Amino acid sequence: THTLARRAQAISPSPTLSLDTKTKALIAQGHDVVNLTVGEPDFPTPLAASYAAIRAITEGFTRYTAPAGIVELRKAIAEKLAQENGLSYSPDEIIVSTGAKQSLYNIFMTLLDPGDEVLLPAPYWVSYPEQIRLAEGVPVVLETDEQSGFKVTPEQVLRAITPRTKAILINSPSNPTGVTYTPEEIDALAEALTSTSLYVVSDEIYEQLTYGVTHKSIATSSEELRKRTLVVNGFSKTFGMTGWRVGYVAGDRTLIQAMSSFQSHTTANPSSISQRAALGALGTFSPQTRETMRERLQFVTRALAELPGITCAQPNGAFYVFPNASSWITKTYTKMSGESIVIRDGDHLGELLLSEALISVVPGSGFGAPNNFRISYATSMPNLEKAMERLRDFAKRIA
Ligand code: PLP
Repeated sequence: THTLARRAQAISPSPTLSLDTKTKALIAQGHDVVNLTVGEPDFPTPLAASYAAIRAITEGFTRYTAPAGIVELRKAIAEKLAQENGLSYSPDEIIVSTGAKQSLYNIFMTLLDPGDEVLLPAPYWVSYPEQIRLAEGVPVVLETDEQSGFKVTPEQVLRAITPRTKAILINSPSNPTGVTYTPEEIDALAEALTSTSLYVVSDEIYEQLTYGVTHKSIATSSEELRKRTLVVNGFSKTFGMTGWRVGYVAGDRTLIQAMSSFQSHTTANPSSISQRAALGALGTFSPQTRETMRERLQFVTRALAELPGITCAQPNGAFYVFPNASSWITKTYTKMSGESIVIRDGDHLGELLLSEALISVVPGSGFGAPNNFRISYATSMPNLEKAMERLRDFAKRIA
């Protein structure tokens, strides 16, 4: 017999964890590792948000709030959704949570019965399948690759539906691929989904970070589908506020109420101080941030295109690229020490990149694409230049 519940036993340890430990150990030993693993922007929290938070503290706004979040913030989010996304929601159709991560968990816990299937396009963000399984649902993976631009087609979605399918997850712009669906592609998916009874979980957390493509929320494509869509968003990525932990869902009132009840028994409410900070942050996104990210993306994709053996779909959103290193797997790498070693798989490649090239990336195994690896370009140009030079040197030692 196990001490741990089956639920706890079933959680996969993060595949990045051992690498993270090694990265930290190397840095602690004084090695100059370029860290390309971070899933957060390198720009700071807006001052307006920080001051709002300080005021909240000094004014004593430091108590429990309504479980779904303070009404001022829900109103402001409703206005934001109307102005920026063309979506009309009332404040009681919005719930604020401790990060979009909790928003998503609330959704799966209130939507799924045991055995309910959720269509999950791969490569996917690592937490989706884990959260779906924790809610006793079944993630049904829809494979995509570079050839399909890492996008699912309406036909692919319709083919995968069974009597048990409850929902589909759409994450555009995507973590880890950086791929954003065009408005036309969103409309095509919406048209197919309107004819079904599926719920759509639309994770739009990277919506502001798109380059040369306009983000379109699938909830705007069809009024019929809007009723079954849960729009997920948050403050982490747009405003450089990962540590404040504020995310939200907009959707059907009954579901939002159920999430609020659920949340009232798990975290009670998101931090009162962080909610005030979020209120201060709304509307402060600077287009300059997008330009900075776009320049980095261009630099990284150009550098990757010159690397022998590497292919990469052209991303147009978020701050990730997800190159495919299939042709490096099973090849021989000659270490600095002169020793030759066969690159066994993507995880092994990640280890070698770290120990030999001092570049820390996230191997694709946790994202459902074991031969790819994720690079975050939310770091300075000098860091990116150094990393790409090291990657080129690494590639020269593969035969
Ligand atoms: N959704 C996606 C696709 C993400 O990449 C992340 C963070 O990495 C989240 C949701 C959760 O963000 P947070 O909980 O910080 O709001």
